[in-house]
Amino acid sequence: MSTTEQELRQHIVEVGKLVFQKGWVAANDGNISIRIGENRILCTPTGVCKGMMKTDDLIICDMQGAKIEGRLERTSEIAMHTTIYNLRPDIKSVVHAHPPVATGFAAAGRSLNLALLPEVIIGLGCVPLADYGLPGTPALTDGMLAYIPSYDALLMENHGAVCYGETVYKAFFKMETLEHFARITFVAEMLGGPKVLPKVEVDKLFDSRTRYGVKARAGVEPGCPLVAEDFSGANEKFEVTREELIALIDEALKARGVVVP
Ligand SMILES: [Zn+2]
Repeated sequence: MSTTEQELRQHIVEVGKLVFQKGWVAANDGNISIRIGENRILCTPTGVCKGMMKTDDLIICDMQGAKIEGRLERTSEIAMHTTIYNLRPDIKSVVHAHPPVATGFAAAGRSLNLALLPEVIIGLGCVPLADYGLPGTPALTDGMLAYIPSYDALLMENHGAVCYGETVYKAFFKMETLEHFARITFVAEMLGGPKVLPKVEVDKLFDSRTRYGVKARAGVEPGCPLVAEDFSGANEKFEVTREELIALIDEALKARGVVVP
């Protein structure tokens, strides 16, 4: 049985409440859409808190982002949604929010690109960082274009995150995984630095996708996710005792002709 438009309106309202309750948006931030037809997109209005929407607040737009139906004005970021639908015919819903830990990474100019957690590697591969673009202008999506065909979750530099999937719930759960991953990465950094998985384990996780029925696009791209081997050599961290460190410094000074008393 196909889902009716009224049911899909209800799904957007429910996901809006969840996004708001989780603290992924402040005030009227964020936007959510569902592609309900070839040239019809059901989307959230601008200027309304996503936790307090009613089903008849939602707008229907065409694939150019022009309003077809609705009392209120459509989200100012509709172009990001139409860009994703145009590049990804498999995608039926887009969720954009500003989850604070993931957005912290985006504001620090950092992607979430380490091979750390099995569920994230299976579900998302990694989360690239799209270059900053002024909201409400075509520049917002310029930095995302290269990533949209291959990834289902993106960080947006100095802005937030966007996730997309076959249903609004799948897009929402990707956003939840992304924010959870950002929190865990942050804690691992506080505790001395994340221990990245080796390539052989990452390959096994990618191979297991068919077993779990995961249709994620992202495969093993060089550097996304970064595996343990990417940190070998010059970037390798190692531990030494105080005595070993002094001996190493003495050795280096002697090699440069400095007399150590
Ligand atoms: Zn935003």
